[in-house]
Amino acid sequence: MKYKRILLKLSGEALMGNRSYGIDNDRLKEYAAEIRKLVDIHCEVAIVIGGGNIFRGLAGAAKGMDRVQGDYMGMLATVINGMALQGALEDAGIHTRLQSAIEMDKVAEPFIKRKATRHLEKGRVVIFGAGTGNPYFTTDTAATLRAIEIGADVILKGTRVDGIYDSDPEKNADAVKYNSLTFEEVFEKGLKVMDMTAFTLSHENKLPIIVFDMNKEGNLLKIVQGENIGTLVNI
Ligand code: UDP
Repeated sequence: MKYKRILLKLSGEALMGNRSYGIDNDRLKEYAAEIRKLVDIHCEVAIVIGGGNIFRGLAGAAKGMDRVQGDYMGMLATVINGMALQGALEDAGIHTRLQSAIEMDKVAEPFIKRKATRHLEKGRVVIFGAGTGNPYFTTDTAATLRAIEIGADVILKGTRVDGIYDSDPEKNADAVKYNSLTFEEVFEKGLKVMDMTAFTLSHENKLPIIVFDMNKEGNLLKIVQGENIGTLVNI
């Protein structure tokens, strides 16, 4: 195993499957099965999930809503997704804990770093909900922050494209994929890996990032076992 402790970042939109809003149950089951493969080889798995399938603060603000109010709604959306994923993981026989950055003790533990690492050591998958708990941030930043806090070896950003390209592969058929990049190259080329706050935090703390296609069966396990899948951003 190349990576013993990982932080998996999933976007909220990934949970939609082929729907245009909300949560697709089949997609949840597929993800649970992929994550189960890591638990089976005793890889320690923490997850941060986005909320874009339900609500984004910026989208609310664009329609005249108060940004801070909208951001809190977005954070609560990530807790809904976290609960859905937790249910699917438990159904797949995986022990889990959901920790929230906004306290809501009926459904989630509060985020406590020491507790989170203890759960991981015991083989439980820990899902971090409610982002960073602060408006004006994203779940990419939350994922990076939590990854650093728990001492994850790598952040795995599961997307629907299979890595970082020199232009958008969904718009440009000639787009070229990078197998690996340094943080400096990402800055120089102006590539978009995560938002700048998240990316800078990863860079400063020397936390490698792998962007990969989460919808391809087996990818997650292969990465943890050291196969070069997706694009690695490293120092
Ligand atoms: N959000 C926030 N602070 C955080 C994380 C998230 O305010 O630390 C809000 C923000 O409004 C964001 C929404 O929650 O738009 C959902 O998160 P995000 O857009 O990162 O989800 P994704 O794009 O990964 O689905």
